[in-house]
Amino acid sequence: MRSSVSDGPASWYRASIAVELDPSLPLEGDTRADVCVIGGGVTGCSTALHLAERGYSVVLLEAGDIGHGASGRSGGQILPGLGTDITTVQQALGLSRAREVWEMSREAVRLTAELIERHAISCELAWGYLHAAVKPRHVKELEAFREQMSRDYGYEALAWLEGDALREHVVTDAYPAALHDREGGHLHPLNYTLGLARAAQRAGVRVHPHSAAREIRRGRPATVTTERGQVTADFVVLATNAYHGGLVPELSGRIMRAANYMIATAPLSEAQAAQVLPKNDALADANFVLDYYRLSADRRLIYGGEVSYDGREPPRLQARMDAKIARLFPVLKGVPIEYRWGGDVAITLNRAPDFGRLGDNLYYAQGYSGHGMAMAGLAGKLMADAIAGQSERFDVFAAMPHRQFPGGRALRKPLLVLATNFYKLRDRL
Ligand SMILES: Cc1cc2nc3c(=O)[nH]c(=O)nc-3n(C[C@H](O)[C@H](O)[C@H](O)COP(=O)(O)OP(=O)(O)OC[C@H]3O[C@@H](n4cnc5c(N)ncnc54)[C@H](O)[C@@H]3O)c2cc1C
Repeated sequence: MRSSVSDGPASWYRASIAVELDPSLPLEGDTRADVCVIGGGVTGCSTALHLAERGYSVVLLEAGDIGHGASGRSGGQILPGLGTDITTVQQALGLSRAREVWEMSREAVRLTAELIERHAISCELAWGYLHAAVKPRHVKELEAFREQMSRDYGYEALAWLEGDALREHVVTDAYPAALHDREGGHLHPLNYTLGLARAAQRAGVRVHPHSAAREIRRGRPATVTTERGQVTADFVVLATNAYHGGLVPELSGRIMRAANYMIATAPLSEAQAAQVLPKNDALADANFVLDYYRLSADRRLIYGGEVSYDGREPPRLQARMDAKIARLFPVLKGVPIEYRWGGDVAITLNRAPDFGRLGDNLYYAQGYSGHGMAMAGLAGKLMADAIAGQSERFDVFAAMPHRQFPGGRALRKPLLVLATNFYKLRDRL
């Protein structure tokens, strides 16, 4: 695995682990399993858990510690929908299929809550999400979105907020309006991921941290080799998302890796928290390169935003985050930032997740485009169902067309940076 921003400073999440895994060691020697899952984020842990619950023998390989990737570093917002507008799905698959996708995205959030309850995962789950307009143009877009969701998708969980009603949820003048989604929420992403891994262990999954898959020899059975071991398995599930390292070359060009950054302030007083998010919602703004935040259970402001495509932290990141927070919430001026970290998201060209299979026994789900905390859990369940022979719902996602990023290996990244800079500029207008 190449080193990147994601191997940088430890997150607040690592400093607040509340879920202990059963002891597990790197893979040594040869072993046999029905399924080898590669990647210990939400996708991999959920796949392994759901397979084990169906009676499959499963080995899960993780290159670092469980939750090393985006799942252990994210904003923790669990939201219906995808990284792309549902209209993109509608245009590609038609309204009827797009409705199925939308309903499955809602199911993904419900599944997250069910898994947390069923496996008693201590991860600060809370409900309520605000999608906030920053510009007058966003106000129109959000109005149109609410109307579309009600008309075409029968989705009535969105409430329109402005003025005093909005200030009851977020105490700032920065947003002219927002949609409140009562089906969205937030959680401590690393504890959630660890909780899934622990549940998988208890269901019989053999979890091996620090066991990077180096090569997959395809065929039936397939073999997956690590530095000191080898798994022979009937099925392989690739759940490596942005951290794939080119393990399956034909999938690499379908996603781009982008680093995203987060900070955690020192704990706020109750009075300060009440001057920020009095109803404990999560919030994301409507910019293309968006900012998002929430309060942790110990009342830290967990704030994310800013992207980088070369793994290098943007200059003056902490000062910029500090200034943004002070602008939004003057009451927080002087509250120290205690943690700062980054993580990598995998973006697809159309921002819809990329699910599929290569041959008949290598499954993958990747490219959630910054919107995978809930969807990755469902992806795992759908891959387990598909391996067990019930692939109809997995195939709804797999039918979504995906293209390679243009520009070949050399120009892909510069072109993406150019496109993002265009949108960043547009965010300022
Ligand atoms: C800073 C940040 C904020 C985000 N905020 C949100 C949010 O608020 N809401 C939301 O919905 N989404 C958010 N996302 C996106 C979300 O976190 C991801 O979509 C989701 O976690 C993807 O899960 P995953 O399991 O597919 O991938 P990951 O969690 O990235 O897991 C992949 C794992 O594979 C392992 N791996 C890679 N290669 C190998 C190998 N060769 N062998 C073994 N293991 C390997 C990696 O170490 C890693 O642990 C955010 C992402 C980031 C980075």
